[in-house]
Amino acid sequence: MADNKESAVVLLSGGQDSTTCLYWAKKHFDKVYAIGFRYGQKHQIETEIATQIAKEANVPFVVHDIDTIKKLTHNSLTDSSMVMDQEKPANSVPNTFVLGRNMIFITYAAVYAYGLGVHNIVTGVSQADYSGYPDCRNTFIKSVNASINLAMDYEFEIHTPLMWRDKEEVWGLAYELGMFDIVKNKTLTCYNSIVAEGCGHCPACKLRANGLKKFMESLEKEGKK
Ligand code: ZN
Repeated sequence: MADNKESAVVLLSGGQDSTTCLYWAKKHFDKVYAIGFRYGQKHQIETEIATQIAKEANVPFVVHDIDTIKKLTHNSLTDSSMVMDQEKPANSVPNTFVLGRNMIFITYAAVYAYGLGVHNIVTGVSQADYSGYPDCRNTFIKSVNASINLAMDYEFEIHTPLMWRDKEEVWGLAYELGMFDIVKNKTLTCYNSIVAEGCGHCPACKLRANGLKKFMESLEKEGKK
């Protein structure tokens, strides 16, 4: 198997975070591949958006069906009958949390990367704007990195460029990477499946809009200096 040291596999969902990571990877690696999943999410449009984004970025993209997760767990991203939590409940994770999702995604991405001879995996998880999802924490990423290395006897390196950036800083990174308009106009973050600005009232839209507002204000301040 050829070693593909300067290559990376990016986990791509077509949202603000993973799309920013896709362009971050394009900047840092010679060759970039992307992988996405249909895990039974209510809005299948997600993978269509991701396909379009990958195409425009000129990155090969594969999508896999792994909807077993939907049959085993209940959450408001895959179950249409469940009312979505608008805030993080005091003593638990919001019901938008999909049990096991990141571990499963990263495992499949690693299997795919191994087959390509690729060592680097890029994911857009973040602990900074932390919704309480345990599998977005840095400690989990370190742990799953060690586990996939042991499981496949191979040296993977998981990169998390957004880990310590809040949403304002994620907008800032898109700006630095010169793809701010792509994120603003073409990505899908909204839990109600509306591209770009979204529905405006779901938790994902609020987080995205609030970050954008802060970023635009700081940009304006800097412009005035
Ligand atoms: Zn929304």
